[in-house]
Amino acid sequence: HAKHQGRGRAEIYNSDLALEAADRAELERDLLLALQREEFLLEFQPQIDVTNGQAVAAEALVRWAHPERDLVMPGAFVPVAEESGTIVALGDWVMSRVCETAARWAEAGQRQRIAINISTRELSQADFFLRFRHAMATHQTPASMLELEITESVAMNMDPRVLEQLIALRTEGVCIAIDDFGTGYSNLARLRELPVDRIKIDRSLVRDIASSAEARTICSAVVGLIQGLGMEVVVEGVENEAQMDVLRVIGCTLFQGYHLARPMDEQSYLTRFAVPLIVQERLIG
Ligand code: C2E
Ligand code: MG
Ligand code: MG
Ligand code: MG
Repeated sequence: HAKHQGRGRAEIYNSDLALEAADRAELERDLLLALQREEFLLEFQPQIDVTNGQAVAAEALVRWAHPERDLVMPGAFVPVAEESGTIVALGDWVMSRVCETAARWAEAGQRQRIAINISTRELSQADFFLRFRHAMATHQTPASMLELEITESVAMNMDPRVLEQLIALRTEGVCIAIDDFGTGYSNLARLRELPVDRIKIDRSLVRDIASSAEARTICSAVVGLIQGLGMEVVVEGVENEAQMDVLRVIGCTLFQGYHLARPMDEQSYLTRFAVPLIVQERLIG
């Protein structure tokens, strides 16, 4: 069995590129088994408002706690899960965990949201929103504790049914974000019409801003565009102080990146980023 192949396994899990068909089939089977065995876990990475140092949201990021390996990162299995359709079952697990966690946080007085990544394949399922609402109802999760991250390409090609559901959720208080902005092709006129609260600028747009005037110009224009439309900007993948300095001058205040904190388990997250009630009252009133 594949579990005993050793090195071959490592190669499969270490790369999502150019998997042989046989390896893919193996990985697909292993993912299904891993779901049954509940080998997945979530890590959380804060989005920090640097004007007050508080976390406004945590992004939930899935990992595979493979019994014989280090934590397997989503880049090594999410694309395959998307292709095979296993992402639907995995996504259900993630939704359930996020709704349960967010409900507990709310119960403990936290007002920061938990953001959940939704892949294209999941959103194309006719019953996606039914299942999402089921997870919310099961855990009695306040809508205001949740954020949905959809990708730029999905946002730009949204079918009317999805659009309608997103509008409904947003009306109920779920925050809607566009993820990885700047990596796809956006119809900028369309952006204005979307039910979106915030846009996460991809790290590729900020990587060189400390050293390149052109990179700075592009980033600044994108930030200005988003803010001009009345949406919030979250900058992803901030890795150093030099980038932060430039971004602050450009007018950004919400950051997510290794420079602030890496993704971590829930306990560590709460230890470092739970917002004290007294502070929340002062901030929110
Ligand atoms: P994403 O949604 O854009 O998530 C941000 C990714 O950037 C995470 O990688 C995070 O660890 C990483 N990151 C954060 N700060 C920095 C930084 O300063 N520098 C660099 N180089 N990277 C940073 P991760 O956890 O490996 O996730 C990769 C992707 O996998 C995610 O990208 C998302 O598209 C997908 N993914 C993760 N969890 C889920 C999930 O539960 N469901 C679905 N459908 N996709 C998921
Ligand atoms: Mg994301
Ligand atoms: Mg992203
Ligand atoms: Mg990204």
